[in-house]
Amino acid sequence: MEIRTIAATIGDQPTDAMGALSPPIVTATSFEVRPGEVGFSAAEMGDETPYFYSRWANPTVRGLEKKLAALEGAEDCLCFATGMAAASGLLLHKLSAGDKLVISDVCYAGVAEFARQNLPRYGIEVVSVDTSNLREVAAAITKGTAMVYVESPCNPILRLADIQAIAGLAHAAGAVLAVDATIATPIGMHPLEFGADYVVHSLTKYACGHGNALGGAVLGSAELLGDLRQDSLVHLGAAMNPNAAATINQGLATLPIRMEAHQSGALAVASFLEGHSAVKRVLYPGLESHPQYGLAKRQLKNFSGLLSFVIEDGTQWVEKIADRIKVISYAVSLGKHRSLLYYIPTEDILRTSFDLDAERAERYRAWAGEGVFRLSVGLEDPKDLVEDLTKALA
Ligand SMILES: *Cc1c(COP(=O)(O)O)cnc(C)c1O
Repeated sequence: MEIRTIAATIGDQPTDAMGALSPPIVTATSFEVRPGEVGFSAAEMGDETPYFYSRWANPTVRGLEKKLAALEGAEDCLCFATGMAAASGLLLHKLSAGDKLVISDVCYAGVAEFARQNLPRYGIEVVSVDTSNLREVAAAITKGTAMVYVESPCNPILRLADIQAIAGLAHAAGAVLAVDATIATPIGMHPLEFGADYVVHSLTKYACGHGNALGGAVLGSAELLGDLRQDSLVHLGAAMNPNAAATINQGLATLPIRMEAHQSGALAVASFLEGHSAVKRVLYPGLESHPQYGLAKRQLKNFSGLLSFVIEDGTQWVEKIADRIKVISYAVSLGKHRSLLYYIPTEDILRTSFDLDAERAERYRAWAGEGVFRLSVGLEDPKDLVEDLTKALA
């Protein structure tokens, strides 16, 4: 099946005799079973285990997992309440005291903070590296490395990691590779094809697409995902709400056509910004000026809709711009139908979220200057976005 057909049909079949053409949302927390049919512990859960309790598995959430697995070309998928629950559930599942984690030094702030602040409390050594620099990655991966965790494209500077090369380095040392591909989506990239063992998505973003449900997912082989379900979903307990699953499943039906529109809108806006005299730099993997444009073309089938731009004295401009924009909203998050703009001052994010030594902080500043305006280009006509930005930057 082609990708648009998968998005529109898989995990969306009528499930009962009523003939309802969209599946009923199963909100039940528990299911009737025969005595002895299901053991009381998650350790006895298997492929044939019937639905039993919705923290273990739920039919509506399972429909979403099937669609995501088909879109990603993965054997299986496991959904969580949020993207953070998916990321933290995977990290806590795979890492034990004495293990080493090698992680992107620039990534989603919540993941960066969790790795830096929480994991060391459990005896896990965390080493952050610039994952766009293969020599740095190779040097960081040593014998005790259990996992390499990269985000590509990374938030908020849209820097890329060569996943195929990093998979080789990780596997040679006996480590697994997880890739947070939230920004690329399953339409833009399939990290498993490049050798990754796990893919992580915040479904809150493009997958949902309308900013009205939280969710997260981890994808990979059935074997790895079975272990993750028992260990992280059942015991840490951040199960996805079936209503959120139904909303995200509906969003996914239009993901392939939305991503085409996000990409063409972002390209138009990025080109406009690049030609604007007030703009010093535009970071977007679909622009030839992106420092890793060659890798972007090799690795991404869709450049997505997220871009960042730098303007002189951005910190002084932010209030004026936030007041002037009318079509674009000044708000965090990304991947919804409406465009969202947010300013991320470099000194703030370096202090609160990223743990960069002087040299890597300089490298971050070379991309981000004193701060980036992160723009998630929505599904509006790019002409209106350009007009909004023209007025805001006047
Ligand atoms: C938003 C985001 C997350 C966290 O997802 P939530 O659903 O907000 O918990 C993780 N990684 C990336 C790249 C994100 O953009």
